[in-house]
Amino acid sequence: MADSVINSPGVVRPARGPEELWKRSLREAVRDPRELCRLLGLPEGIANRAATADFPLLVPRGFVARMRPGDPADPLLRQVLPLTEELNPVAGFVADPVADGAARAAPGLLHKYHGRALLVTTGACAVHCRYCFRRHFDYHNNAGPAAWGPALDRVASDPTIEEVILSGGDPLSLVDTTLRELVAQIAAIPHVRRLRVHSRWPVMIPERVTGGLVRALTQTRLTLVVVIHANHANELDSSVAESLRPLAAGGGLLLNQAALLRGVNDDTATLADLSARLVEIGVAPYYLNQLDRVAGGAHFEVPIDRGLALMAELRRTLPGYMVPRYVVDRPGAPQKVELLGEPDSWESAGGDLT
Ligand SMILES: *Cc1c(COP(=O)(O)O)cnc(C)c1O
Ligand code: SF4
Repeated sequence: MADSVINSPGVVRPARGPEELWKRSLREAVRDPRELCRLLGLPEGIANRAATADFPLLVPRGFVARMRPGDPADPLLRQVLPLTEELNPVAGFVADPVADGAARAAPGLLHKYHGRALLVTTGACAVHCRYCFRRHFDYHNNAGPAAWGPALDRVASDPTIEEVILSGGDPLSLVDTTLRELVAQIAAIPHVRRLRVHSRWPVMIPERVTGGLVRALTQTRLTLVVVIHANHANELDSSVAESLRPLAAGGGLLLNQAALLRGVNDDTATLADLSARLVEIGVAPYYLNQLDRVAGGAHFEVPIDRGLALMAELRRTLPGYMVPRYVVDRPGAPQKVELLGEPDSWESAGGDLT
């Protein structure tokens, strides 16, 4: 995997081609919690280094540049800053909260829902999000090119699978040539109609969206859906907007999924602002995910009641297309479960909703 997955820090060399640019941004990403604090003019003590032992800090410098210096509560910083709370065990917060293990159809292939199957392509990401539900995932036995053959054989043998989702980790951690090959293999399966890519790269390191990548994803017979992951409008600067344009121009449908995170986006104004910014850059809000109860992530949890109240306010104030679906991944459910309910709708409708 050494030549196809870029996840190791190395010597900094001058950038040459477009592929060199994003690799350099990844190599130069901040990996030391003390450096992150220093860059933002914050005391080093607010980061907990012990929390990085099994899930290291990783944050690209371009993302750090979008944070407010001197603000320990900055919503972008909160997503990546290792805290002491991560080390406190909390009942109900476990290593595999969405039962990925049970959905394994083949190594690296998760088939939970009708019509679509998810390929875990790599464990590498452009950033390490402290709330990540796969922070304990066994990538070693589940990801990587060696597993793709059997996984795609499985897709080929099941004509109900119309969509292959590239996930991870983050599939855009693979280099363009590897991706092109993988996409070609998927396109060769006649009953597959759609290719979906779930990635945080365009937000974290927008230079990742090279001409070669756009060609690899858009120049097949498959319909392309790209789901980015942003939780706050401040993440979406003009460099992100520009990186997405060629994907849309190539016919890709652009969607966003966000996680509902305490101290990051758990108020109506922030969520409304996120939706507005997404639409401005051509991305439709798709899902707002209730936090998966992963060990180490408990301090990010927002109670579902609070989430429902936020959603009710979004529906009341935004055009329908700007309101994401509020969902939770319930192990064993046949789809992501939509969380619905408006605390006071019965009252305001006089109790008559029939
Ligand atoms: C979330 C998820 C999907 C995608 O679900 P959609 O509702 O289609 O967005 C597919 N497969 C797995 C295993 C998932 O966890
Ligand atoms: S980019 Fe996605 S897979 Fe990677 S750490 Fe963040 S949430 Fe997890």
